[in-house]
Amino acid sequence: MRRANAASTLLIAGGGPVGLTVAALLVAHRGLAPDTTVRVLESRPAVAWDPDTTGARVYALSRASQLILDSLGLWQVILGRRACAYRRMRVWEGEGPDGRAALDFASADIGEPDLGHIVEDSLLRHTLQEFLARFGNAQVDFGVSIESVRSTNRGIELGTSEGETVAADLLVAADGGASRVRTLMGLPVAACDPDQTALVAHVESELPHAETALQRFLSTGPLAFLPLADGRSSIVWSLPTAEADRLTALSDAGFLDALQAASGNVLGRLGPISQRARFALRTVHAQRYCAPGAVLTGDAAHSVHPLAGQGMNLGLLDAACLAAELGRARHRGDGYGDLAVLRRYERRRKGDNLTMLLAFDALDRLFRLPGSAAPLRALGLGAVDRSRVAKRLLMRRALGIDHPVLRPLRRTAA
Ligand SMILES: Cc1cc2nc3c(=O)[nH]c(=O)nc-3n(C[C@H](O)[C@H](O)[C@H](O)COP(=O)(O)OP(=O)(O)OC[C@H]3O[C@@H](n4cnc5c(N)ncnc54)[C@H](O)[C@@H]3O)c2cc1C
Repeated sequence: MRRANAASTLLIAGGGPVGLTVAALLVAHRGLAPDTTVRVLESRPAVAWDPDTTGARVYALSRASQLILDSLGLWQVILGRRACAYRRMRVWEGEGPDGRAALDFASADIGEPDLGHIVEDSLLRHTLQEFLARFGNAQVDFGVSIESVRSTNRGIELGTSEGETVAADLLVAADGGASRVRTLMGLPVAACDPDQTALVAHVESELPHAETALQRFLSTGPLAFLPLADGRSSIVWSLPTAEADRLTALSDAGFLDALQAASGNVLGRLGPISQRARFALRTVHAQRYCAPGAVLTGDAAHSVHPLAGQGMNLGLLDAACLAAELGRARHRGDGYGDLAVLRRYERRRKGDNLTMLLAFDALDRLFRLPGSAAPLRALGLGAVDRSRVAKRLLMRRALGIDHPVLRPLRRTAA
């Protein structure tokens, strides 16, 4: 492999939020050798963000994600465009959030202004695309997908859908949960198909969302309401796929009736509702995150259940960690694609990602256990809710405030 201080090309497969963030951190923090080029290949067209309409896909972004974007100077841009802070989070099972089986988190309890922000996927991508366009050594090609990957003694060689062959020192796979690169590189995964599908839509409500994220655990899976800046809430309703199919086939009125019942009327009368989208849920974890010349990030390395809204947050931490390790490789004179460099990144991220993945999977299973387990769950939720220490720890962990990956970024931002 070549040393990182020679002219190099770093290729990123996938221009989703994680791939674009890896590229942005690499070019912005000047950790790379001067004549290193970062090129992103994205199979879809460039995203346009619409200031008048809230995009269909949104993410609950943690403080850790906020700090990563802030280190690029992009957090204030996003806030100035459209984002909704959530300051409370209420999680419950059974009749209502005021019952025994409930947890109530408030940012004020840990002296924080909020517990995170709801941000549109299209806004995140658009802002990152716009940012990368400022750098002469960054290039994003849309409508181009990676079709083949081959290891060479200088790094990696790729074949694209346009018939181009591209040589690179390192290939960063950020091509999502069904990662083509991961398959082409023969990197094995542990996967679990829970036969669940998430239904997503934005809905108006009689009662204001009051900057509160709500999540009700039902025997079929969790139903979340995330507050949007336009006053509506974005629902993420995880269901067995057959039930999701049945609900998808309903008219808006029929779907709203089902949603009303499932919501336990926590936001009063619901409706009207936007167009609905659906996502098959799969838990995937790559057993190895790297091979010589190639490395996995974001959902290509790990897809987690959306119940805790952490998949993107974990992916952005991957991006920050990988950018830092590649910067270190350059200072040490190692090659970007050296296995030792990529393994350091893998060691720093794998345990964290796996812990979260197993925790969300266990939570999902726990709440889908039959009704006889409900009293035990109520006891557990009640005990956590009464323990200030446990709640503070959970909130700080979810915000990612103390994450070690953020330390160099805090220095950059200072
Ligand atoms: C319903 C739902 C709700 C969620 N809510 C949250 C939340 O609130 N908070 C949170 O943190 N996470 C959430 N997540 C998880 C989050 O969506 C993912 O973790 C995140 O999208 C991963 O980002 P990524 O960039 O790794 O992958 P993706 O967003 O999947 O992007 C991958 C990109 O790669 C491109 N691509 C694919 N194949 C190729 C190829 N061969 N060549 C070139 N390009 C390719 C794709 O077009 C795509 O643009 C949710 C997930 C779901 C399903």
